[in-house]
Amino acid sequence: MRRSLRQAQQRATDASNASSNEIDEIDESKVLTLSHNPKAPRKRLARAPETRSDVSPSEDDDYQSPERETSNKKRKITSRGKNGQKNGNLQIFQRLFSVDGVVSDIPPCQLPQRIHNIDYHRPLLLDSREGRDKLLEWFDSVSSHRSMPWRKPWIDPRIDADNPGLLREKLERRAYEVWISEIMLQQTRVAVVIDYWNRWMEKWPIIHELAAADGDDVLAAWRGLGYYSRATRIHNAAKLVCEDSAMKGLLPSSVDTLVAKVPGVGRYTAGAISAIVFGKAAPMVDGNVLRVLSRQLGLLGDVKTDKSVIDILWAAADSLVKAVAGDSFDEEIYSAAEEQISDRPGRWGQALMELGSTICTPKPDCEACPISTSCRAYGEGLRFASTRGLAPPDLHAGLNHGKSPDIEDLCSFCKPFEEVAQPGDDGDPEIIPVSKKNAASRSKARPRMQRQATLSAFFTQSSESKETTNSIPTELAPAGLSAIVDHARKFPVKVVKKAVKEQETLVCAIRRSDGRYMIHRRPQKGLLAGLWEFPSWIVPEDYENTTIAYKRAAELHASAALDPTLKSKSLTHPKLKYVGKLGSVPWLFSHLKLTMHVFLFEIKCSKNEFDALPSPDDRWSDSVESESMGTGMRKCWDLVREANCD
Ligand code: SF4
Repeated sequence: MRRSLRQAQQRATDASNASSNEIDEIDESKVLTLSHNPKAPRKRLARAPETRSDVSPSEDDDYQSPERETSNKKRKITSRGKNGQKNGNLQIFQRLFSVDGVVSDIPPCQLPQRIHNIDYHRPLLLDSREGRDKLLEWFDSVSSHRSMPWRKPWIDPRIDADNPGLLREKLERRAYEVWISEIMLQQTRVAVVIDYWNRWMEKWPIIHELAAADGDDVLAAWRGLGYYSRATRIHNAAKLVCEDSAMKGLLPSSVDTLVAKVPGVGRYTAGAISAIVFGKAAPMVDGNVLRVLSRQLGLLGDVKTDKSVIDILWAAADSLVKAVAGDSFDEEIYSAAEEQISDRPGRWGQALMELGSTICTPKPDCEACPISTSCRAYGEGLRFASTRGLAPPDLHAGLNHGKSPDIEDLCSFCKPFEEVAQPGDDGDPEIIPVSKKNAASRSKARPRMQRQATLSAFFTQSSESKETTNSIPTELAPAGLSAIVDHARKFPVKVVKKAVKEQETLVCAIRRSDGRYMIHRRPQKGLLAGLWEFPSWIVPEDYENTTIAYKRAAELHASAALDPTLKSKSLTHPKLKYVGKLGSVPWLFSHLKLTMHVFLFEIKCSKNEFDALPSPDDRWSDSVESESMGTGMRKCWDLVREANCD
C-alpha cells in the first residue's frame, strides 16, 4: 500500500515536472542543491523542513534559511544601520516563525500598556494544527457562497499523471484564469469582477487567444476596471509567455520564476498562482490578509507603509502556509516526492483572504470568527473585557497563565498604544498621527511606561490588582463582545490618507464636416495608459480661472492639434469654429480629483482635407463609441452626443 502510494506520488511529480521543468529553471537549479536527510526528525519533515527554505518563495521577503542565516553571522559586520537592522529582522523572523521556534505561551497583553516582547508575535496558529484545520473547514463551508467562477477544484496532478499533455493543458488554462482574476481583483470588488472575468474568458478562453488579440480590444474589455496600464501589461505578458520557448503559454509554477519572468506579476499574484494552481506552499498576502494577520499576531503597526511590519507579516504568512502544506503529508509521502504539493496551500491562502473580506473586516465580526482563540487582538480585548466584569476571566486560554515579558527584548514593531487609543476613545479606531520625529523626541522626553500611564484614567480597571471583580460573570456579555471588537478594530494602525490632488483639464472635441472626431492616444505609461481621448490640455495651477480664459485656452489647444506651429504664435486655426462649452465632468481617481471641462469645435473642410494629422498619436474616428476610452472620457463623449442630438 505504501509502495503504491509512493509510486502514485512520484508519477504525479514527474507529470508536473514534465509540464513545468522547462520553465522552472530557477527552481530546478536550487532543488538540485538540496539533500534530503532521511534521518531528520519526523516533526521537521511533516511541517516545513528547513532545507526547503532554500527554495522558499519568501526569499524576496527577507526570510532566509538557517544555513543562510549562519553564513550571515560569519560575515564581518562593518557598519550598523540599515544592514544591521535588516539582519536583526531576519534573526527575529527566524526565531519567531521557524517550526522549532519558541512556542508562545505568553498571555494577551494588558491594556493600555501593551507591554510585550517580540516573542508575543509568534502566530498562535503556527502551534495549533487544530486552529489551522478549523480555518480550512470554515473556508470549505463558505467558499461557494459568493460563487466566484474562478474558484475551481485544485488540479491534482496524480489524476492525469499518465497523460502529461492533458495535464499541461489543464494547468495552463487554470493558471491563466487565476492570473486574470487576481489582477482584476486587485482594484475592484468581487461582485463587479465576476462579470468582467466571465466576459473576458468568453472572449479569450486560453492565454494564446489573449496573446493574439488586438491591443485596443483588450483595453475595451478592461474598460471600467480602471488602472488601464494593467490591461496592457497583461496583454504584453501573455504574448511573452506564449512566445517564450520555455514557457510556451504555461505560467511558471514558482514564485521566483513568475516574478522574474512575467511582467506585472508581483509576489502577491505569484503566490496566488503558485499556491492555488500548482499547490505549492507560497504565501499570498493582500490587504485583507495583512489585516487578519496583524490581528492574529497582535502587531499594532502600519501595514501600508511600514516595511518592517509588512515584512514580518509576509514572513508569518510564509511560515503558516508551509505549516498548512506540511499538515497533509506524512513522512512516507514526503520522502518519495521532491515537492510538497496539495490543495491545502491554495485553500489556506483563499481562506485568509475570505476571512478578511467577510468576517475580519475593518469592523470585525469576532463572534463568527473560526480562529478567534488564536487571535491576539481578540485575546487582548477579552482580557480587557474581563477586567471590566464583562467576560469570565478564564475564557481565553492564555489569560491566566504565562510569563512576564523580558524587559531586554521589548517589541519595537508595535506603535505605542497611546497613539492609537486616546483617552475617551469610543471605539473609533482613528489614529492620532505622530510623526516619527515627534514620536522620537517625545520618547526621549517621556519614557514609554510613563506615556502609557497617561491612559490609565480611561483604563481605570486595567491594573492586575483590579483584574478580579466582585461579581464574576459566567459568559461573555454583549458589551464585552463590543469591547473586543472595538479593540480589534485598532489593528492594523490606520494611516491618515494624503489629500487627493485636484486637477482641471480642457477637453476639446473637434468634429469635422463628415462627422468624424479627432482622438488622441495617451502615452503608454502612466494614468489611463494607451487609451484614446479627445485632445485635452491640463490647466496649470496658476492659470487664470475664468470662463473667457478657459475658452481661449481650449481654442488654442484645438488649433495646435491641427497645426502645431500656431501654438507658439498663440493663434487660432482659421477653419476652426467654436461651438460651445458643453459642461464639466468630475472624475475621481484614487490619487486625483479631476474636473474635465468639455468644449465642442467644428472644422469646415473638404473630403480629404486634414486627413493627415501632424501628430502620429492623433487620428480621426468615425465611431467614437467603440474606441478604447476611459470611463471619464466616455462621460465627456456623452455630453458631445447629447449636443449633437439637440
Ligand atoms: S477574532 Fe476578530 S479580529 Fe481576530 S481574526 Fe477573528 S475576526 Fe479578526
